[in-house]
Amino acid sequence: MEQHPLIFPQDVHNQTLVNNVHPASWKNPEPAPSYNLVVIGAGTAGLVTAAGAAGLGAKVALIERHLMGGDCLNVGCVPSKGLIRASRAAHEVRTAGEFGITCGGGVSIDFGTAMERMRRIRTGISSHDSVGRFSKELGVDVFLGKGTFIGPDRIEVDGLQLRFKKAAICTGARAAAPPIPGIEETGYLTNENVFWLTELPKRLLVIGGGPIGCELSQAFARMGSKVTIIERSGHLLMREDADAAEIVQQSMLRDGVTLALNTKIMKAIKRGADKVITLEQNGKSLELAGDEILVGVGRTPNVDGLGLEAAGVVYDPRRGVTVNEMLRTSNSRVYAAGDICFPYKFTHTADALARIVIANALFKGRQKTSSLVIPWCTYTDPEVAHVGMYEKDAHHKGLEVTTLTVPFSDIDRALLDGETDGFARVHLKKGSDKILGATIVARHAGEMINELSLAITAGLGLSAIGKTIHPYPTQAEAIKRLADAYNRTRLTPFIKKLFTTWLKWQRSQAR
Ligand SMILES: Cc1cc2nc3c(=O)[nH]c(=O)nc-3n(C[C@H](O)[C@H](O)[C@H](O)COP(=O)(O)OP(=O)(O)OC[C@H]3O[C@@H](n4cnc5c(N)ncnc54)[C@H](O)[C@@H]3O)c2cc1C
Repeated sequence: MEQHPLIFPQDVHNQTLVNNVHPASWKNPEPAPSYNLVVIGAGTAGLVTAAGAAGLGAKVALIERHLMGGDCLNVGCVPSKGLIRASRAAHEVRTAGEFGITCGGGVSIDFGTAMERMRRIRTGISSHDSVGRFSKELGVDVFLGKGTFIGPDRIEVDGLQLRFKKAAICTGARAAAPPIPGIEETGYLTNENVFWLTELPKRLLVIGGGPIGCELSQAFARMGSKVTIIERSGHLLMREDADAAEIVQQSMLRDGVTLALNTKIMKAIKRGADKVITLEQNGKSLELAGDEILVGVGRTPNVDGLGLEAAGVVYDPRRGVTVNEMLRTSNSRVYAAGDICFPYKFTHTADALARIVIANALFKGRQKTSSLVIPWCTYTDPEVAHVGMYEKDAHHKGLEVTTLTVPFSDIDRALLDGETDGFARVHLKKGSDKILGATIVARHAGEMINELSLAITAGLGLSAIGKTIHPYPTQAEAIKRLADAYNRTRLTPFIKKLFTTWLKWQRSQAR
């Protein structure tokens, strides 16, 4: 098996992964005279576009320069959730005393084994995104190499020219180099190499308190690193409701994460084995030393070297490829999907956009991104999941809302599970049960948000959820309780008086 320089360590799992998603022995096929669709980039957006189009009978070429599966499989969702799961196991053991369970000898964490488990599972998942599956099972012409437009209807890869009727740019985004003096010389990790670690850094400085920074900080802290998050603003997870973010922040503090908030990073230097960041905080200069620096902020779109000028595709180097609501670029033959063109950079969004591209590019569909209902989740403990509008969005649009919140401390199952941190919240259009948005903060918020996403997508009001029987005891009962709370708001003093009079009259008849 050939060594692949773009993934580490070269163990059996990673070698099998590379054999699946970028086999060294792969020979690019002879290009067809013309393709219905050429897809550049084999991350989620590209894979779903290519598989869906080929399944409908299109002649499809798929080009990937690195590892098929893209960020999600190789350096994003999959490895991060593998690490998070291991860190949860460590946390559960540490906190098992609450349930009367003690593990003699304390907690011993083998980071290397946890990472190996992650690599083994990632490799198992990778067969789904593999060159073999796409070429043999799905009938897609897979080309490994860098794709570059050489005209409005032509792409070059590995010295071969592919002519297309339609093309889809699905080249994603990557970690942006942070504009910090000295950081390149000091050396730092990003999502592209943090999952290569086989040994736990004793002290980890994490730049950025957004979703990626928080997820990884908590995971490393629970695995035993001394983690410090360096964040420009005054709080973690600034995009979320302040009380939701505060619950996560408190949880991270309990995990031993140190927060350096309201900071401005001045420079980074290497001092002996230490990596040192100099900050300004409240007008004072401060130095933080770590064994590693992890940059968890800033994504930059992969537009470089794509030859977009030759294709007549307009783009912005910071925001990516410019598309209209139907995901068409300034070249009517060329569409885009995923992180390369969309502000909501998630795997499930890349999947949803890919389906729009198939319909619009191949079948003259008129599907629009504005009709999508997009949930998301930050996989901290507790998780924060959101769908639709925040209250501030509704106010911005001039909409009046009724906000209902149920704390998990009111939910029997959450009490029994010892998972009372958090709440379920909906924003309703005032005077109706129409759900405009929802936030859930809970251990399994990502699983629970789906009921509310479905309701918004299907145009079901909160009353429909109220009529739906939820098994007892489940944490999802919190959502049913929101509906109960809504029903109580409908019991106006006048209706209550009517009910009281009617019931009083019934009692009088029974005498
Ligand atoms: C640490 C981390 C954790 C994440 N966790 C989650 C999560 O839990 N849930 C979630 O929904 N999202 C998560 N994301 C986001 C998610 O990974 C991305 O939104 C998703 O991968 C985007 O898919 P994509 O297809 O648009 O791009 P990508 O996955 O980036 O794929 C683009 C592909 O195009 C290739 N490419 C680029 N240029 C060329 C070229 N010129 N020629 C050929 N190939 C090219 C690249 O090599 C790459 O394989 C996470 C991201 C990170 C960094």
